[in-house]
Amino acid sequence: MNRYERSLSSDTFPPVTVLKGVGSKIRGHLQRLRIYTLQDLLFHLPIRYQDRTRIRSIGTLQPGDECVLIGTVEHSETVYRKRRMLLASVSDGTGRILLRFFYFSKAQHENLASGASIRCFGEVRRGVKGLEMVHPEYEVHPERAAIKVEDHLTPIYPTTEGLHQLILRRLTTQALRWLEGDRVPELDLLPVPPEIDGQQVSIIEALRFVHRPPPEANTQALASGVHVMQRRLAFEELLAQQLSLHKLRLQIQKQPAIPIAPSGRLYTQVVESLEFDLTAAQLRVIEAVFADLENPYPMLRLVQGDVGSGKTLIALAACLQVIEAGYQAVVMAPTEILAEQHVQVFSNWLTPLGVQLGWLSGRMTAGKSSEMKAQIANGQAQAIVGTHALFQQGVTFKSLALVVVDEQHRFGVHQRLALREKGIQGALHPHQLIMTATPIPRTLAMTAYADLDYSVIDELPPGRKPVSTIAVPQERRHEVVARVSSACRHGQQAYWVCTLVEESEAMQCQAAEDVYRELNSCLEGVTVGLVHGRMKGKEKNAVMQDFAHRRIDLLVATTVIEVGVDVANASLMIIENAERLGLAQLHQLRGRVGRGSRESSCVLLFSSPLTQNAKLRIDTMRATTNGFRIAQVDLEIRGPGEVLGTRQTGMLQLRIANILRDQDLIPQVQECAKMLFTGHPHQVDALIDRWLGKSMEFGQV
Ligand code: ADP
Ligand code: MG
Repeated sequence: MNRYERSLSSDTFPPVTVLKGVGSKIRGHLQRLRIYTLQDLLFHLPIRYQDRTRIRSIGTLQPGDECVLIGTVEHSETVYRKRRMLLASVSDGTGRILLRFFYFSKAQHENLASGASIRCFGEVRRGVKGLEMVHPEYEVHPERAAIKVEDHLTPIYPTTEGLHQLILRRLTTQALRWLEGDRVPELDLLPVPPEIDGQQVSIIEALRFVHRPPPEANTQALASGVHVMQRRLAFEELLAQQLSLHKLRLQIQKQPAIPIAPSGRLYTQVVESLEFDLTAAQLRVIEAVFADLENPYPMLRLVQGDVGSGKTLIALAACLQVIEAGYQAVVMAPTEILAEQHVQVFSNWLTPLGVQLGWLSGRMTAGKSSEMKAQIANGQAQAIVGTHALFQQGVTFKSLALVVVDEQHRFGVHQRLALREKGIQGALHPHQLIMTATPIPRTLAMTAYADLDYSVIDELPPGRKPVSTIAVPQERRHEVVARVSSACRHGQQAYWVCTLVEESEAMQCQAAEDVYRELNSCLEGVTVGLVHGRMKGKEKNAVMQDFAHRRIDLLVATTVIEVGVDVANASLMIIENAERLGLAQLHQLRGRVGRGSRESSCVLLFSSPLTQNAKLRIDTMRATTNGFRIAQVDLEIRGPGEVLGTRQTGMLQLRIANILRDQDLIPQVQECAKMLFTGHPHQVDALIDRWLGKSMEFGQV
């Protein structure tokens, strides 16, 4: 048995208490950072560096530099501006800089007397009269010969209140010394160090480097996290993340589920009744879903398809297969409006087939709701559509075999988990189909959702015309109103979306009501409707029906119409305060138009001045309707954690890797993960433990 086959127990690594200076107080601080052993400490990685390895000439300094300089105090004085402060002007012959202190002792003032030679470290800022440093660290030296610099870049660690950088530095120094000893092999968990950027780097080498980079290290590469030594560690972190998701997936696949026989009778009936052909992408995904359903373990498939790519039919196909086999299927939507719409669409399809549809909404009367619950419990309702009301206590299913989660990105992880729990009957777990319109690059999806099977609908139904998009400042709002008026008179239908981001839902509804009144009074001959989140379900539904049947020309709405709403004749959309919305939301909203045969357009109304990011978002919307390109920009602006909506679960909170920046490592990471699973299973747990510690409850969908 060689060392790679040996399972590493948690006491392979000594506890931090073996280090000098770790008493109960510091141990407590370290625990808050989840540092228990020397390994944990070594993998507690710097977030950035300071360069104290060289002395900079004052003449070369730029605002923003963090650096060491030496010089002579030319003049110092205590002054009273708004508050008392000590100013010392320091020169080194190449230039002059001002040191500014708000808190200082008398002794300090005396020390900094004219003629004193000093060494200081701090951040250079632009002051009123040239460069300055506020509260630099400094030492006064009797003579310059005594001045020494650090022999490596200074690491700055993530820390917690009460734990000073200096302590972390002292502790990591000791841990690095321990690395020199004979314990070293245990840290190398990979049989062969991976080749990164043409170099084979051992984990030990990488750790030494990132904790104490030498003065000649490429500081720019380090600052942007792309140094080969950082990439070596990022590789391992991504690997650990991959392994943990694979493990999760294996666990799920050990759970039993009802295998659904491939019949396809109902499905074929629906397909034959459609006025259009399914796209090749839809067919491919449906085939994959049917194959999954045949397995005696739960399907866990994520279907990604841009807005309007036809995901509803995928959901329907899966439901039909399950219903035909004699089980129940549930479709969960994130908003009332979308649920209502699904109820319409599904009942149009299901009624001719003789399939019973049930639905639940938070706004049903008590009587209606208990009637529905009874039908769900006794199995009379075969397909069930609903919102989160489906999680209410008291909802039980007779024989639930499939859960479809539509527009997954709008649900919290807990809601999804709760629904899955509901579906567990005895030992049997329901199949799960998760649908999302958040298009993310494939490698990223494969990493973030490595515990799921993954399909993309990479094709829109034929005949869709890209929506032309313009941006118009609020000052020209009247022109937009005129355009809406003329469009509606020519038989077009339009949405006017009122958005307020920070404010409450109540305020958003208020704003919509105001706009509704304004437009209603100034647009003669145009029927204006209003829909917002505070209206009763019935009222909302009636308005949506009126809009769908062209009894309303212009629909003033809040962002309740953001997802899923499908009215093909609507061809114009106005979005107010577009500068405040994120790209994903803008893309979703705009996806409500451009569904019919007419040329569609979207007007982004904005208030100046635009921030840089807002401008980038609006420019992106104008430049493209491609969901993947929009998502790419969104990722760059917001980062993967936000975009994938998994931030609160802890997933993707990586220490050193960045899924976006390090994407190119992913194919190699996947190879390596496979190799470890088959050849070195013991290393798998050790790696997961190293990088993810005890926080393994993440990533469940
Ligand atoms: P999304 O993926 O956004 O949920 P939907 O399922 O709501 O998209 O589909 C959008 C519209 O496209 C619906 O009106 C639907 O009937 C229609 N549709 C779906 N598939 C096709 C297809 N293959 N050809 C033409 N129209 C389609
Ligand atoms: Mg949809």
